[in-house]
Amino acid sequence: MRSKSFVELAAELQGERALVVLDVDGTLVADGEDVMSEAVYAALCALARSTDVYVCSNKRREGRVLRLVAGTGAHALETRYRKPNPRVLASVEQTGKRVVVIGDKYLTDGLLAVCIRGAFYRVRTVRQVPESWTVTLALAVDAVFGRIAYDIARLVIR
Ligand SMILES: [Mg+2]
Repeated sequence: MRSKSFVELAAELQGERALVVLDVDGTLVADGEDVMSEAVYAALCALARSTDVYVCSNKRREGRVLRLVAGTGAHALETRYRKPNPRVLASVEQTGKRVVVIGDKYLTDGLLAVCIRGAFYRVRTVRQVPESWTVTLALAVDAVFGRIAYDIARLVIR
């Protein structure tokens, strides 16, 4: 089954009362990039108008997420923790809303969703051409082992 892009998914989620935790690399931009496409930017603005969106990256680059989401209405989730540690959400006030994690990786975004008992929407990875072999390898590992870990975690954590 072909997974949806962030733009397609954001259109579907619009109007839902949810707290959205949103991944950066592979979801909004290709790995390591700093600028979203116009379509992604517009989709993020529209989603952030109707839901609380917290954008969270596991990369440590000072101020990057803040710059990326500027003007979109989404919040930059600055935390010293890394997904899938549920503490990434420690500073977020959760008001009983359904929590939705959107991302492209099972091992980070998917497992986070399981840990906080939220929903996981896996998006089709935004990729660049050419791509570094480390990125290609990480995606392949996640597609196989990440998926297995995610499925097991779902069985164990309910
Ligand atoms: Mg990602």
